[in-house]
Amino acid sequence: MYDIIIVGAGPAGLTAALYARRANKKVLLLEAKSYGGQIINANLIENYPGVPKISGFEYATNLYNQVKELGAEFKLETVLRITKEKKVITKNGEYQGRSIILATGAENRKLNIDKEQEFIGKGVSYCATCDGNFYKNKVVAVVGGGNTALEDALYLSSIANKVYLIHRRDTFRGEDKSLEELKKKTNVEFILNSNVVKLIGNEKLTGIEVKDNQENIQEITIDGLFIAVGQEPKNLLFSDLITLDNKGYIVSEDGVHTNVEGIYVAGDTRVKQLRQLTTAVSDGAISATTAIKEM
Ligand code: NAP
Repeated sequence: MYDIIIVGAGPAGLTAALYARRANKKVLLLEAKSYGGQIINANLIENYPGVPKISGFEYATNLYNQVKELGAEFKLETVLRITKEKKVITKNGEYQGRSIILATGAENRKLNIDKEQEFIGKGVSYCATCDGNFYKNKVVAVVGGGNTALEDALYLSSIANKVYLIHRRDTFRGEDKSLEELKKKTNVEFILNSNVVKLIGNEKLTGIEVKDNQENIQEITIDGLFIAVGQEPKNLLFSDLITLDNKGYIVSEDGVHTNVEGIYVAGDTRVKQLRQLTTAVSDGAISATTAIKEM
C-alpha cells in the first residue's frame, strides 16, 4: 500500500513526489515514457524564477535525481485504469494507494493529415531539440504560432540552411522577444495565414502543400517538418470516473481536487489558465500537501 501514487513524472508529478517524500510518505511514481514530461524537450528555459538559463533536459534530470535520492519509487509502466478505491491498474500489475495524484500532462497535438503518422522519423518530427541535428544544412518547415514554434524555428535556423515558419494566422501567441529575434534571421521565411494541407513523399517526406486563406495552394520542397501546434491532454482512460471538460482536461474547481475523494490533479492536464513550468511545479506541491493533509 502506497500513501500516494502519482501518475506522470513530468515537473508536476515529480514535484508532488518531492513534497510527499519530504513528508516521509510512501510514494510510487508511474510513468509511461520517460521522466521529465514535455519540458525535457525544451531547448532552453529562460523564465523559471531564479534560474536564468537551463536546458529542459538538465532541469528535468536534476529534479528526477532529487526525487530519486529522496526515496520515491519510480516505475516505467503505462496506466490503464484507476478506480475510486484508489487502485491503479497498469499493463504490468495493480497498485493500491491511499490517494492518487493525476499529473498526466499533455501530448503533442497532431495536424491530422494524411501520412503524418507514417512519416514520423522520416521527415516529420514534434521535437526540434531531439531531431534538429538530422537537418544540418537542409530545408525545414515549422508549423505553429506559439512559443514552441517560435523557439523551434530559432533553434533550427542555426542548424538548417532554410526554415519556413508556417502559421494559420498573422499574429502569434508566442512571446514578442522570440518573434523579434526570428525576424532578424536571414534564413527564416514566414508563411502566414496558411495551413499545411498535404505531406508529399513516398518513403519519406520530400515536400508539403500549403494553402492560404484565399485557397491558393503552393508546394514547398522540404526535408523536414516540425509540427508545433500545441498539446492535448490524454485523459480519456479516466473519463468513466473523473470529470473532464470538452477538450479532455481534468476539471477541478479549486485546481487540486477532482470529483473523486482522494484523487487529486496537478499540472498541464487540468483545466487552468497558464500552462508553464512554474505553474506545474506549484500544482505538484499543492496536490501533495493537500493529499497528505486529507489522508
Ligand atoms: P500553444 O501556445 O497552444 O500554440 C499552439 C499554436 O499552434 C497556436 O499558434 C495555434 O494557432 C497553432 N495551432 C493549433 N492547432 C493547429 C492546427 N490544427 N493547425 C495549425 N496550427 C494550429 O502551444 P505551444 O507553443 O506548444 O506552447 C504550449 C505552452 O507552453 C504555452 O503556454 C507556451 O507559452 C508554453 N511554452 C513556453 C516556453 C517558454 O517559456 N520557454 C516554450 C515553449 C512553450 P492559433 O494561435 O491560431 O490558435
